[in-house]
Amino acid sequence: MKRSELKRKTPLKRTAIKRKQTKKKSPRTKKKSLRSLKKKAWELLSKAIRLERRQGPARLVECVSCQRQMPWKQIQAGHFIDGRFNSILFDERGIHPQCSMCNVVYNGRKEEYFIYMERTWGREIIDDLRAQRNRQVNFTTEDLEAMIKQYQQRIADELNFRGPE
Ligand SMILES: [Zn+2]
Repeated sequence: MKRSELKRKTPLKRTAIKRKQTKKKSPRTKKKSLRSLKKKAWELLSKAIRLERRQGPARLVECVSCQRQMPWKQIQAGHFIDGRFNSILFDERGIHPQCSMCNVVYNGRKEEYFIYMERTWGREIIDDLRAQRNRQVNFTTEDLEAMIKQYQQRIADELNFRGPE
């Protein structure tokens, strides 16, 4: 189509466009909610744990309950002790790779998980985790942001030193 065909027969009115007064952005930095920070921290910790547990030439990660091996992206990080109280949510002594069957379908397959825990950590640590179970810990934004930084660093280190995903 030729340009000329697009020409309007009546010229457009040239009216000044009123600009809306743009509101000044509040200098207060928008703080992310604790909840979303906690979620982000957990996702990063889960990723770090799964990446760090890659083993063998195929870099598979083993489920601590059923010993099935799979790529890190397919495995989950499962808690030995349930409950979402902060005190154990990020305690890595009680967080290990688990396949979704064991972690979700079989509710953590705790009997098998217990055997792994006893062999790896011993009864004292198990009891310590059990004692913490109902203790509520309140993380601050700063706590969570520091944890996020730390987990991000761990993931970066793992990928640098032991190879990419
Ligand atoms: Zn499993």
